[in-house]
Amino acid sequence: MAWNVVIAGGGFGGLAAARELEKVMPKQSARLMLVNEQNYATYAPFLPEAAAGTLEPRHVVTPLRDILKRTYLRLGEVVGHDPEAKTVELAAKGGGKETIPYDQLLLSLGSVSRVLPIPGLTEHAMGFKSLADAIVLRNRVVENLELANATDDRRRREELLTFVFIGDHSQDGTWPRPPLSPASRGKPDWTRTSVSLSVGGAKVVYGTSPSRARA
Ligand SMILES: Cc1cc2nc3c(=O)[nH]c(=O)nc-3n(C[C@H](O)[C@H](O)[C@H](O)COP(=O)(O)OP(=O)(O)OC[C@H]3O[C@@H](n4cnc5c(N)ncnc54)[C@H](O)[C@@H]3O)c2cc1C
Repeated sequence: MAWNVVIAGGGFGGLAAARELEKVMPKQSARLMLVNEQNYATYAPFLPEAAAGTLEPRHVVTPLRDILKRTYLRLGEVVGHDPEAKTVELAAKGGGKETIPYDQLLLSLGSVSRVLPIPGLTEHAMGFKSLADAIVLRNRVVENLELANATDDRRRREELLTFVFIGDHSQDGTWPRPPLSPASRGKPDWTRTSVSLSVGGAKVVYGTSPSRARA
């Protein structure tokens, strides 16, 4: 009898697992199901470009059904797991809950952003993990630039043009820059825009104008 393999999460890990299992497990030996919140996979390294507008948001994602050949895709959120009964509980997109049995479960639900003990972070900061985050960030930056353009108040302008990025992964430290530069292209004097980048607790501060960069 065929095994029910349920893969929870269709990101980098879950998608790679599904593709590999499609290759190595004969059709008659396994039924593959992937449960994910969206019907697309997000290529996270390109999120800064989506935020910057240098890439169309739709070019940062790929429909899961285009990639998966025989894995059944179920949209929804995994909200419960009973290892004894070998079931996961799914809150379906359209409402309602469903119990899904499995013989083998692969958990690949990703992570949540770590909230560092930095005052104001939880109240004021926004995350940067999804396509929706990238779009919200872009809109926010553009709005700030326009508001700064419309005010004569120097302090307010400086506030609006100061962006603080807090992160602790080992990106090269320049990824926050793209959302700012294209958005500001062709607009009035944004040379005083400054970006403060904090990586893993150590503060690295720079501005788009080197003369204004300060540590
Ligand atoms: C801006 C940014 C840039 C990055 N750049 C790089 C890079 O250049 N190189 C690199 O190696 N890594 C990079 N990373 C890290 C990389 O994206 C992650 O390491 C990788 O995505 C982790 O894979 P994962 O499968 O564990 O989780 P994810 O890819 O996050 O996938 C988790 C999936 O599970 C789904 N999910 C979560 N909870 C539920 C639930 N309850 N029910 C159903 N579905 C759920 C999510 O919607 C998502 O589709 C970057 C990350 C970000 C945010």
